[in-house]
Amino acid sequence: MKSQPSETGRDPVSRTPAAPGAGTGARPRPLRELTGPVRGRLAVAVGLQSVAALAGVVPFIAVSEIADRLTADAPADGDTLWPLVALACAAGLLALACGTAAGALAHLADNDLQLALRRRLARHIGRLPLGRLTERGTGEVKQAVQDDVSALHTLFAHTLLDIVAVLTAPLLALAYLFTVDLRLGLVSVVPLLLGVYLFSRAMAGAAAQMAEFGAAVGRISAAAVEFASGIAVFKSFGRGRKAHERFVDATEGFADFFSRWVRTTLVSSTAAVLVVAPAVVLLLLTVLGTVFVTQGWLTGAELVPFLLLGPAVAAPMGVVGPRIQQIRAGQAAAVRITELLHAPTLPEPATPVLPDGHHVRLRGVSFSYDGRTDVLHDVDLDLAPGTVTALVGPSGSGKSTLASLLPRFHDVTAGTVTLGGADLRDIPATELYRRVGFVLQDVRLLRASVGDNIRLGRPEATDEEVERCARAARIHDRITALPDGYATELGTAVTLSGGEAQRLSIARALLADAPVLVLDEATAYADPHSEALIQDALSALAAGRTLLVIAHRLSTVRSADRIVVLEDGRVTEQGRHDDLLAAGGRYATLWNAQRSADDIREGSAR
Ligand code: ADP
Repeated sequence: MKSQPSETGRDPVSRTPAAPGAGTGARPRPLRELTGPVRGRLAVAVGLQSVAALAGVVPFIAVSEIADRLTADAPADGDTLWPLVALACAAGLLALACGTAAGALAHLADNDLQLALRRRLARHIGRLPLGRLTERGTGEVKQAVQDDVSALHTLFAHTLLDIVAVLTAPLLALAYLFTVDLRLGLVSVVPLLLGVYLFSRAMAGAAAQMAEFGAAVGRISAAAVEFASGIAVFKSFGRGRKAHERFVDATEGFADFFSRWVRTTLVSSTAAVLVVAPAVVLLLLTVLGTVFVTQGWLTGAELVPFLLLGPAVAAPMGVVGPRIQQIRAGQAAAVRITELLHAPTLPEPATPVLPDGHHVRLRGVSFSYDGRTDVLHDVDLDLAPGTVTALVGPSGSGKSTLASLLPRFHDVTAGTVTLGGADLRDIPATELYRRVGFVLQDVRLLRASVGDNIRLGRPEATDEEVERCARAARIHDRITALPDGYATELGTAVTLSGGEAQRLSIARALLADAPVLVLDEATAYADPHSEALIQDALSALAAGRTLLVIAHRLSTVRSADRIVVLEDGRVTEQGRHDDLLAAGGRYATLWNAQRSADDIREGSAR
């Protein structure tokens, strides 16, 4: 691995995140780790639910005892029967009270757990390197904060108590049935054992099948996206059939797989459900019980508890089976949440340093995403205050990666990046972001008013200041045409076009007024008018600032103070446009290639 600790001896953070518990030798126990603060209350809820489940069986036992006494040779009187009735009622009430308390307690514990987890996640995500969030997109974060925390809710507030109930109640029921008659008691266990056997046969290889299921669904999604996005191209070339061939293939493949899977498990899974179904168990016990009674092995009254409680013995199979999926989902959610919580954060400096001026200097900078392959090699670069530096180079040469180091989306793997003489890692985050701004192609707008979106970097800015920046960014007229002007909420009824969103993000950067700015020029504009507006807005932004531009426009490159050519993560040329062109090197080749491409485009547009 080439990525040795940086010059300053710090460990870079942009490494593969350590798995929870990794390095300690301990087996990771994500569920245990996450539930720590509420485990006590969950344990009490489980205890209460067990009491409720056991108490819930008592009325059936009481009824069986009453039946026994009523049919005895010398029928019992009220003195012996009423206490049993009272016991049944008391047990029923106790079951109700404990069950309700258990549910309430589990929900309260779960509510606190969700709040604590979401707070922890929010705090942690706020300290992650920005690069990690753009890398994996917001999908991972949304999944953890929303879906995974909800999966834990299902597990702790519902599944846990369900399982406790269906596992404890049958134990007492079975124990009582054995005291009544051992032989019929054993018969009552048969459906349960048979159900377990059949269910495990149906589930054999389920993990592999589920993986194949996921892969097959993934193939359909990919083919559907391809189908939808490529249909226009295929149709315009008269090959409409081609467009849906892959999609149809994928769906047929899925249908084949699914019917094979269902065929192999259908018999055993249906049989498993059938043998534990209460009606089936009741029928079995009725038939066998009648034989026992007619043979004189059992009294009619002794058969009553089997008919009342027998179906409950096998019931857990019907409930636990489907719950296994929820338990697995809860475990997987806990793993994802802990992984995110263990992802390394950007270390805040122990002894903060403030930059003196705005000169940006990269020295011996290397960077690797995965800790193995460097995508930037030994880059030296100077951005003098007030100058425009254009990064050019083939796709994948490392332009975005290099630019992302300035706003500290990632920390360097080796070398240093300094601003005003201070290592970026020694500058407190808030101070860094006051000085280094960025406008990226992928503009993120918040679900907030247009004004608040512009104010993001300076919430205290006045309306006049916001408007001045919007005018300079050539977006003011569009904003005033919105239903509520600057108060219009974005993301619900109103959405902006790509070019408009980009101008809005330029207004935002203008207002934030960071002296150093990283800019990724958009590769494609919707129309020439929009492009001209964006170019105007960018000129306003560039004035008096240190700019590092990932340049896609010839005009930007030509007027830049310095052009830096990147190839395979190395700086291979740098200088002004005319000098580089005259040198006839890599830049000249790139320039000529792009110019002829533009000529062709203009020619075809005419
Ligand atoms: P450019 O901006 O010049 O197109 P990039 O900086 O995007 O180049 O990419 C440089 C190299 O780094 C490429 O090989 C690319 O595949 C890789 N790369 C870019 N982003 C990531 C990422 N988030 N994770 C892993 N590799 C990446």
